[in-house]
Amino acid sequence: MYFRSYNSYLQELFHARVYKISIDGGFTCPNRDGTKGRGGCIYCDEKGSSSRAHAPATPIREQVIKNIAVRKSRYRAEKFIAYFQSFTNTYAPCATLKKLYDEAIFASPDIVGLSIATRADSIDEEKLSLIASYQQNLPYVQIEYGLQTIHNRTLSSLNRCESFEDFLHALTLTRQFPIHHCVHVILGLPGESKKEELQTADMLAKLKIEGVKIHFLVALQNTPLALQYQQGLFHPLSFEEQIMRLADFLERLPPETVIHRLSGNGHPQKLIAPLWMKERKKEIVPCLIQEFIKRNTKQGSRCRF
Ligand code: SF4
Repeated sequence: MYFRSYNSYLQELFHARVYKISIDGGFTCPNRDGTKGRGGCIYCDEKGSSSRAHAPATPIREQVIKNIAVRKSRYRAEKFIAYFQSFTNTYAPCATLKKLYDEAIFASPDIVGLSIATRADSIDEEKLSLIASYQQNLPYVQIEYGLQTIHNRTLSSLNRCESFEDFLHALTLTRQFPIHHCVHVILGLPGESKKEELQTADMLAKLKIEGVKIHFLVALQNTPLALQYQQGLFHPLSFEEQIMRLADFLERLPPETVIHRLSGNGHPQKLIAPLWMKERKKEIVPCLIQEFIKRNTKQGSRCRF
């Protein structure tokens, strides 16, 4: 095993084929509505960094049922994790959150988990307590934080309008509750050196982060990053460089860290750059394994914590 994949982790946990089903809860984001910032992160499109958002206003129950039917027939999936993915999925009062989360988890008896993607600055004890309460109904409850990098200078250039310290605060709070956690990072960020990227990996290792979701930076239509690309200010990594970066990053993480994803996000029809992502996405895992074989390493080989 060259890395600990999320699929194998779920298989160990449930002894069944478990799939995440993406839900659009109709949220917005404090980095879009002016509370923290306007315009959002430079790579975020109008779907809120989700590749599978539904048409707005589709009832949650309907989203869940449709999604389950598709995954059952296409992948022979057996159990499902309701995944609130688009925008900031804790950005509402607790009563509203409870109504939305309830609607998702009670839509089908095949739902075995709840996963909520959010920003570190949009969580508090009351919301974490609500999320943790779903442990009574479900064996698996998780929160996902978009960290991207530990370097505040880079976060600022991405217009994230939050800091690494916000993340540390959210992580400390989260650990007071029985909730699994996962952290999103992006490789190939503009203005960030390879050394800085690996410092993020080292910090995740030091913090004993449970799960990591790795994205490649992609420019999607109608985003500030797409404009930067067109102006020659954003130079995406080549496929080969990305594989190297992935291997370097994974070598630094502890072997027990669950790797939720190894590649970029975003709808292929909206992709502006890098275009190799359209044709070569399926080659990422085999090429990464080849790279590990060549180096005689795997996830954790260079972990220092
Ligand atoms: S925090 Fe997430 S939803 Fe909000 S602007 Fe950034 S990527 Fe988009």
